[in-house]
This record gives sequence, structure tokens and C-alpha cells, in this order.
Amino acid sequence: MELPPPPLQPDFDQTLFAEVLLPVPIPKLFTYRVPLTMNPHAKVGIRAIVQFGDRKIITGLIVQLHNQPPKEYEAKYILDLLDEFPIVYDVQLQLFEWLSSYYMCAMGEVMNAALPSGLRLSSESMVQLNPEFDFENSLHHFSEKEELLISHLKNSPQSYSEISKILGVKTLYSIIKSLTAKEAILLYEEIIDKYTPKTETRIRLTKANANEQSIQQLFETFAKKPKQEAILLKYLQEVPVFRDASLNTKGVLKATLLEGDLSASSLNTLIKNNYFESFEIIVPRFPLDAETEIKDVLLSEEQQLAQQEIFKSFDQHSYTLLHGITGSGKTEIYINLIKRALDSGAQVLYLLPEIALTTQTVTRLKKIFGSVMGVYHSRFSDNERVEVWNGTLTGRFKLIVGVRSSVFLPFDNLGLIIVDEEHDPSYKQQEPAPRYNARDVALMMGKLHHAKVLLGSATPSVESYYQAHQNKYGLVNLVKRYGEAKLPEIILADMDQERKNKTIKGEFSKTLLTELENCLANNEQAIIFQNRRGYSPMVNCQDCGWVPKCVNCAVSLTYHQYRHAMVCHYCGYKEMLPTNCPTCSSTRILTVGYGTEKLEEELQLRFPDSKVQRMDWDTTRTKTGYETIITNFEEGRTNILVGTQMVTKGLDFDHVSVVGVFNADRMMHFPDFRAFERAFQLITQVSGRAGRREKPGKVIIQTASTEHPVLKYVLENNFEQFYQRELDDRFQNHYPPFTRLIEVTLKNIDAKVANAGALHFVEILRKKLPGTTVLGPGDPMVPKIRNQYLKRILIKIDRGSGKLSEIKNRIQDAIQLFSKEKEFRKVRIIVNVDP
Ligand code: ADP
Ligand code: ZN
Ligand code: ZN
Repeated sequence: MELPPPPLQPDFDQTLFAEVLLPVPIPKLFTYRVPLTMNPHAKVGIRAIVQFGDRKIITGLIVQLHNQPPKEYEAKYILDLLDEFPIVYDVQLQLFEWLSSYYMCAMGEVMNAALPSGLRLSSESMVQLNPEFDFENSLHHFSEKEELLISHLKNSPQSYSEISKILGVKTLYSIIKSLTAKEAILLYEEIIDKYTPKTETRIRLTKANANEQSIQQLFETFAKKPKQEAILLKYLQEVPVFRDASLNTKGVLKATLLEGDLSASSLNTLIKNNYFESFEIIVPRFPLDAETEIKDVLLSEEQQLAQQEIFKSFDQHSYTLLHGITGSGKTEIYINLIKRALDSGAQVLYLLPEIALTTQTVTRLKKIFGSVMGVYHSRFSDNERVEVWNGTLTGRFKLIVGVRSSVFLPFDNLGLIIVDEEHDPSYKQQEPAPRYNARDVALMMGKLHHAKVLLGSATPSVESYYQAHQNKYGLVNLVKRYGEAKLPEIILADMDQERKNKTIKGEFSKTLLTELENCLANNEQAIIFQNRRGYSPMVNCQDCGWVPKCVNCAVSLTYHQYRHAMVCHYCGYKEMLPTNCPTCSSTRILTVGYGTEKLEEELQLRFPDSKVQRMDWDTTRTKTGYETIITNFEEGRTNILVGTQMVTKGLDFDHVSVVGVFNADRMMHFPDFRAFERAFQLITQVSGRAGRREKPGKVIIQTASTEHPVLKYVLENNFEQFYQRELDDRFQNHYPPFTRLIEVTLKNIDAKVANAGALHFVEILRKKLPGTTVLGPGDPMVPKIRNQYLKRILIKIDRGSGKLSEIKNRIQDAIQLFSKEKEFRKVRIIVNVDP
């Protein structure tokens, strides 16, 4: 798709056509005709209601206006326009275009991901008769069709598509508009907005009573009605109308007026008798805070130096990587940079990988930036998201702190983008399309907005570090922890050795238990990291070896004790833990291995005087789940925090002196080309939670592979050498950053069809892509999910071959060709760029 040309200046009696982006996974724009009366209001970037297909009424985004009628079909009319002003800027539309072509998905899918669903309408819109409408006595003239419609609406509201059938016409716009103008009909809520503003009910004196004389009279009237008198008194106390009569306009919050058990029914009587009136006002969900002054942070010498280097780097590079060890105070540097950017009048986007991180950082930033800062994350309700969207659009928010989806917000003047923990895999969206990496989108946004982009991490991704070494990005190092804090001491607990010595209890090494005991005895805190949630990752019959498997997926079930059930982590399927083995009837059914839930239980048993809390997917599902757990730990109400990768990231606590990595081996032996990188990052990051203040910390890593190179580099804290080794490996095996990967997954409910389809598709691909490496098809690690059999193909493209977009086009062609084959019509193809 081409970028849209600049918008036409609408001429009022010229026939205009709009290219409308619809939230459908079809890779094209749709042309609609703008009714002449709408010419003055049609603009690029506003939402339009259109009919799609025969029956659906949906909202789309106008991305282009022109005067070329479509050649193949007669354009339908736009039914209505929803916005007066654009809700996205041109630069967002350009970003959407880029996302769609780079990540090989439809623009409609990008729009779906981008707009909060409160701004999207896809449901059927309804029309109803206006209850105030009196057909017999109306002064208006009605056409035949209008009368027909009115008589139908008398029975019940109708949807657009039903109406179109009833009337036998395709374009309803003129009838709907005319009947709306005659106040005969109302368009149902869905056609207006799914977004509902937050309102509050307020009470005030009616106009006739809002003066001193009338109020005196009211007191006389209420002389024998103490409940009503009490309300009047309370009102005058809250709203001193005697002092300033204009105060009555704003009235008082109904809830406030009724405080202290005043009678609601008496208030209703007062309203019924027209002494008081009730009214609603719209209030923001994020009330303006009192203006806080932007305070200066005093940077340490090292931090100042790093900041100067960042400025210097920005002179030459738009992109700069800040490689600063854990606890070096990267956030303080960010704060300074943000402040400068805001002072210059620009907007700032601060990306964080996960909510767990945002709770601490958000509080810290909020204190500094106050109400110019908006927060955007997936746990917000849709209405809250719409308010952040609008706040960005109108300029109320100058700084947005948010997770990956914040890259879609309608910025128009970004000066700085910070991608904190840029290496973090949660920047990549896996499902559904667009399968984007927010870090890379941020780089593109930097280009579009002419903004500087700062990537920050203690463990940069191999890709970003490589770019920095190639001098494509600037590179700034921060190698010292802030203040007196030192990096923790790292100790390997040799599980093989301890097993021989019989010092292991459960799966706890003596080394870890001893350090935990000391730590707790000194009233310090510990964090234990285990990357498996649930109680036990496996259930197993001791006699015949039976292992329960998911009925929908090719995985074994994880036992969760709190539900007393075995659960599939891929599809959610649940089964009770059987008392007898279904194959041999044995009662010796064991749960095998340690998930976070079992760790929590065992630690609590071993340290009964300490309080253990768990942070994982299961304990953080409520909106404030994270916050509660983090605050409890911060304020010392819990002593040991057990968790999945959530505990590894960015958290900053004062009293953590021991960090335990429960099982390092599984991470390192994961079948993925990034397994070593991930393991190195996770272990370094979680270690970084220890000893962040004066007191030194210790990290205990339980492993049976003490000689493993990843652990060697972690022990030496040698990122540089780890990176060199990893780079050699990637070079040898043709992996990023030396190649670009595109992963194609084929899915079908029938294993044979999936298999045959994959073989056939590979054949087409190889023909279309001579000279390009096409690997597979093979089975992914979990070859069946939700009853769909999966086959995987990997395409490797040499970096710098300059053929990336050409190759993507050819892959699209291949998909087109493939989908025309009858036997494979039901095979789904999923393309993942930069998996
Ligand atoms: P990083 O993100 O690099 O791991 P943080 O930004 O979380 O490190 O800083 C670590 C700790 O040191 C935080 O508690 C932070 O408040 C403190 N700190 C860092 N720099 C300063 C500074 N210049 N002044 C005061 N405190 C600082
Ligand atoms: Zn058995
Ligand atoms: Zn399953």
C-alpha cells in the first residue's frame, strides 16, 4: 500500500470519495462516497460509519480523500461521521502503514491493535423511534419510505441492515439523516460511541430558590420537616450561597450532600417539589492533580558523565543505547532527559515492558511530573484507555509512560522516546497480528517524528548491542552502581555435588538454605526466582509411568494446588487430580517438580516465622495484584518473595540481601537460538535485585551445569565476552543480527492436512525465493495447540541483502497462491517477522 497523499481541500459541491480503513483482516482500503452535505466535515483521520458487505455496519478511519470513483464497483455512501476533529494524526497513519508492511499484516489489524475498542464500533447499529415523537401531530412532511420505516419502528428498534431490507434500499444515509433532523428517530448508543464518559450526580437549588429571600421562606416551609431542613442546612454549609450566589451553579456532589445519614428520600421529595434539582456532569477519570513543581534530580558524577555522553551521542545518532548495570540509576538519567524534552515543548514516550515494573516507576515519575503524565497499560479499562488516548490527542498529557501498545497513541510532536529494558521479550507481541516489537516500532517512530530514541538496559539484546558496535547507534556505558552499592557476590550451588553429599532437601541446596537462614535471621529479605508457575509441572503414576496430557494440546498438565486441578497452560483445559491411575489403577500418583506455588508452600514450612508471598500470573490477575504484593514486600510485611520472571525485572527494594535462582538449567537448555541470551539476561537481572543499597547482597544459583559458559560470564559479570561468544555463535549458525528471520506457521485441525499443506507451501516458497534459505517444515516445540496441528517454516534472509521487502512481497504472493488451492483452503497461515 502507498502512503496517502496530502488531503484534498474539500470543495463543497464536488463529489468526494474516501479511502476508509476498516477493522477487518483484508489487506486493502475501501472506497466510500462522501454525501455532498458531509463535504465540509470529511477529513483524514476521523471515524466514519459505513456499511460493509450486505449487513454489517462498522466504523472505519478515513485515511484519504480524493475524487476518483472506484472502477470495479459502485461506492456506497458514508453513513455518518463520528468526529469533528481527527483522532489520529498523519504521522500515526504513516506508522500504521509501516507496521502493516513490515510485519506483513493488514492495516485493519494494525488499527484493531491501535485504537482502544471504545473508539471502534463493529456491532450492528440500531435505530429506534424517538419516544417524544408524535407522528400524527408532526408538522413535518414524510416521504413514503420514511412513513414505512416509522411504522416498522413502532413495533421495535431495527438495525441498519434490517432497515435496508425493509426499505429495499442500499444507502440509508439520507433517510436516517432526514428522520433524525425531524426528531423522529434516535440512533442507538452503539452508533454513537462505546466509550462512556464518567459522570457524577450533583444537586443544587433550583433557580427560583437560589436567593436569600427564597431560602428564608424555605426554612419556614420546612419548620416541621426536620429531615428536609437538615438537607437544606447541609447544602448551605457545603455551598455558601449567601456569601456568593454564583456558587449554586456548581452545586454539590449528591453523595456529599447525603453524608452523615441524611435522608435520600427526603432529598427526592425536595427535588420532586422543585426546591432542588439534580444534574449530571462529566468528570475526567484521571483528575488533574495539583500542579507539582518539576524538581531537579542531583546526578552522581558517573551519571552526569553518562548524561553528557548521551547528549553528545544524540548529536550524531538518533538512536543511542545506554548500557548501565543494574542499580546504576538509569531511571534518574531518564528523568533528567524527560524534563529537558518537556521543557523544550516536545512530547515524551517512556516505554516499559511490563506492569510489574510500572507500579514502582510510575509512582516515582508521578511525583515528579504530576498531571502532565499519562499512564497506559493493558489493565486499564477501555474507558480509561480512551481518556488517555484523548488526553494525548489534545495535549493534556505530555509524557506517556506505558507498555508496548502505547506506541499507537496519537502523538504529534514526540521529542524523545525511552525504551527501558529494551532487551525484554515482552516488547514483542505474539498474538494476534500485528506481531510487532515495540522497541523496533519506537525506532521507526523516532524516524517519523524526528525524535531521539534512547534504549536502556543492563543486559542489552544482542541485536541492539551489535548495532551500537557497528556505530549505527550511539553507545553510552554506566558501569558503577549508584552510591555505595556494589554488585552482589554470585555463588553457584552445585546440585550434582550436593546430591552426592546428600545435602539437598526437597530441591533446595544446602547452600541456598544456609544463605536464606542467615538473611532472615538478620531481618533482611530474599527473592527466589523460578520460571514455572503452578504447583508441579508434571503429574506421574509411580507404577506405570502414566502422565496426564491435555486433551486439546500436545503438552502435559500442570498441577495447581489451590484449585486442586491439573491445568493446561496453553488452552486452559482443567481436570481433577485423579486418585487412581486411569491406566493401572494405582493410587501412587505423584506430583513432580517445583512450580512457584510449591516453592511458596515449602519455604513457608521451612521458615515458619517468615512471611512468604508469591508473584506470578496466578496471583496478579486483579488490577491491583502487583501493587499489593510489591508494597507488602517494600514495606517489610513479607520476607521472601517467590516468583516467575516477574520478579526479575527492574524492581528496586532496599533490604534484599539474598536472591536465589532455583533452577538455572532449564533456562539454558531451552530449544531456542536466544536461550543463552535469555538465560544470561534473566539471571543477571534477578541478581541485580540484590544489594541495591549499602549492604552487599548474595546470589545463589542452583545448577547441575556449573561449567556452563552462560554461568561463567554471569559469575564474571562479563557482558562483553558473553556478547562476543554469542555473536560468533549467531554468525556461524546464521541467526540475527546477521540474518533476519521470518517464521511461518501453518495450522489445521487435521494433522495430515497441516503436514501436506506445509510441504506444499514450502515448495511454493522455495520456487518464489531462489537463493534464500527456507528451513522446514518442522514441528514447533508444542506441535498441537487447541486441537490445531502446527507446522513451522523458517526463512532466513541475509542482513544487508537489501531484499527484505522484495522477499516479503514474494512470501505474500506464495500465500495467495497457496490459499487458492482447494484442499488447503482451511489451512491458516501465520507470519511472524523477527520472531
Ligand atoms: P537502574 O534502573 O539502573 O537499575 P535505578 O534507577 O532503579 O537503577 O536506581 C537504583 C537506586 O538508586 C534507586 O533507588 C534510585 O532512587 C537510586 N538513585 C540512583 N541515582 C540516584 C541519584 N542521582 N540520586 C538519588 N538516588 C539515586
Ligand atoms: Zn499407572
Ligand atoms: Zn491445552
